[in-house]
Amino acid sequence: MKALASVNSDLRKFPLEYTRNIGIVAHIDAGKTTTTERILYYTGVVHKIGEVHEGAATTDWMEQERERGITITSAAITCSWINQGGIFPKIEQRINLIDTPGHVDFTAEVERSLRVLDGAVGVFCAVAGVQPQSETVWRQMNKYKVPRVAFINKMDRMGADYYSAINSIREKLGANAHPLFLPIGSGEDFDGLIDLVRKVAYQYQKSDNNELCFIEVEVPISLQKTTEKYRTELIEALSDFSDDLAEDYLDGNEILEEDLQKVIRNATLSLDFIGVIPGSAFKNKGIQMLLDAVVDYLPSPLEVAPMNGFETDQKKVDIYADDSKKVTGLAFKLANDSFVGKLIFFRVYTGVLKKGSMLYNPRTQKKERISRLMVMHANDRKDIDTAFSGDICALVGARDVATGDTLCDPSLSVNLEPPTFPEPVISMSVEPNTTADQDKLALGLKRLSEEDPTFKVSSNAETGQTIIGGMGELHLEIICDRLFREFKVEATAGRPQIAYRETISSPSVGIGKFIRQSGGRGQYGHAEIKLTPLERGAGFIFENQIIGGAIPKEFIQPTKQGIVESSKMGILAGYPVVDFKVELVFGSFHEVDSSEMAFKMAGIFAMKDALKKANPEMLEPIMKAVVETPNEYQGDLMGDLNRRRGQIQGTESKGKFYSIEAHVPLETMFGYATDVRSLSRGRASYSMEPSHFETVPANILRKIQERAGIQPVNT
Ligand code: GDP
Repeated sequence: MKALASVNSDLRKFPLEYTRNIGIVAHIDAGKTTTTERILYYTGVVHKIGEVHEGAATTDWMEQERERGITITSAAITCSWINQGGIFPKIEQRINLIDTPGHVDFTAEVERSLRVLDGAVGVFCAVAGVQPQSETVWRQMNKYKVPRVAFINKMDRMGADYYSAINSIREKLGANAHPLFLPIGSGEDFDGLIDLVRKVAYQYQKSDNNELCFIEVEVPISLQKTTEKYRTELIEALSDFSDDLAEDYLDGNEILEEDLQKVIRNATLSLDFIGVIPGSAFKNKGIQMLLDAVVDYLPSPLEVAPMNGFETDQKKVDIYADDSKKVTGLAFKLANDSFVGKLIFFRVYTGVLKKGSMLYNPRTQKKERISRLMVMHANDRKDIDTAFSGDICALVGARDVATGDTLCDPSLSVNLEPPTFPEPVISMSVEPNTTADQDKLALGLKRLSEEDPTFKVSSNAETGQTIIGGMGELHLEIICDRLFREFKVEATAGRPQIAYRETISSPSVGIGKFIRQSGGRGQYGHAEIKLTPLERGAGFIFENQIIGGAIPKEFIQPTKQGIVESSKMGILAGYPVVDFKVELVFGSFHEVDSSEMAFKMAGIFAMKDALKKANPEMLEPIMKAVVETPNEYQGDLMGDLNRRRGQIQGTESKGKFYSIEAHVPLETMFGYATDVRSLSRGRASYSMEPSHFETVPANILRKIQERAGIQPVNT
């Protein structure tokens, strides 16, 4: 963290110091949507409380999200909050809420939002404590160095246990978590919070007009001892971060509220401390205290590590929030809005962006005019004229922008580090039902793939079918749903298939000849290539090494086209071939009979020939699965993972629970949810995400080939 150049705060309604860009992250069902919804209510953005179980939550603005009750897209919503005072003056603060999905199929979405937020609220269930998905997200937040506070939600539920939830945060997430507030009562009796910093209690009650509100009272006598105990523990824990505090504590001096807040803030920003707040989003309790904690303890854009930028020559530069610099920003999310068209969610990193200005996209090397600037208020949007560094806004008018693109001042060329996204592991075909649907399908797929970098569209070279690929079954199911609803496409989807790849393991040469002699003009194309394997993830390289015009210039491109086309369908089972280099080394032509088509065919044949001799291999997606189980089912679940060709990466005993981490081929994981349940009488849970690709063993390859009706190739 570095002190920064002062910003031109005259122009701003919300100085950077009073801006918070935060995300809410949680395991599915912990109450993230409800908490977000309540925050919007108490910050005045929405005036009616929508219930998730009635399908009316404000952030769930896509229909199928409502139906499924999960939040898939990260809507960025702007609201403001006047805090209690303390280290920050009691004035209006801006909070940009970046909603993040909790479902395991959408880890990439979480990753993309973590890139642009500065701090986060982790929502946990007071009954279940830390669940597997929270662990994944927590680790992602460590990777992006996101300071956070924890909200233990559902304190109103029977069996809610604040202290055991905090323990699970400490044990399972290895976090230095300490309560900032204590609950008064739990389950049905949960009706207030004790503020350990201010040593007062907030008691909930109904107001005259029947609204729930809280009043500040003295800590109830029955809880005074507990309050002292936890306050002392808090101060002891914080003494590690401040010598002054440690001294005051040891000398028995009065510890000032503001001093304590400052240490909590510094400790939180250094990622070494997590403050915990109890509440019940559902019963509207604890939300105001959570909002105060967001302002008091989470960083402003000035207090986070700099963003990495790369100037075109790969020179790395540190990007700090600063209004006096030229504009740079990251397009982190695209959405189609039925009223204004394509909305680009954008974080301004430096500079002041004005409506109507031009921005340059280094990826497309094009300039685009930003015709409108907006901030989003849940379903509602507000036009603005200017966005400042550190702000999150929505842009309208730029056409050719994809998720992860940098947009900057036309006099600059800098690439902000985009989030990283995994390759698709599952695919299926989609076919339009009528010719009228064909164009709509193409448009819909283009838009959706621009929006979502983990969603890929390709076509099967042999059948011409359109193939869509993504992160899991649910991911593709939702894409199909959106095609139908938003783009009104009537289409039929095939069964989900594993997205296998093919590659080669040794170098080879290939010869391709396409020679036809008939009565009139014949066909003549002849190409010879050298094929070499490249390391995993390297892609495709083509080099033309023809000398002396053995193949005339105009036929080089068609030959390359043939090679590329051929590589889209590998010879083992028709999957795309990846990670190889082709050198076009020799060929011949005929004055009259040679044509582009003949050389394209020669390219296809040469590649097929070379592939056969290059020891082709099939690659399969490997998932990282984390299974959490009560100890007694550990043996059965490990045995089951072994049968699925799983490789155990690590195990950990967590009290009565056992956690198993394994790499398992996706192919063996269909139906795993049901099996885990039956093996553990419903008590184990798991999460799964794509990890990497590995060579398929020969016996499995044969099975895949049999299924596809392909004769094994002798290599
Ligand atoms: P998300 O999946 O994390 O977004 O969780 P939701 O906000 O959709 O909540 C999941 C379920 O838990 C819904 O049925 C909510 O009504 C319920 N829920 C959320 N917060 C609370 C709470 O504080 N107390 C109780 N009892 N239920 C809650």
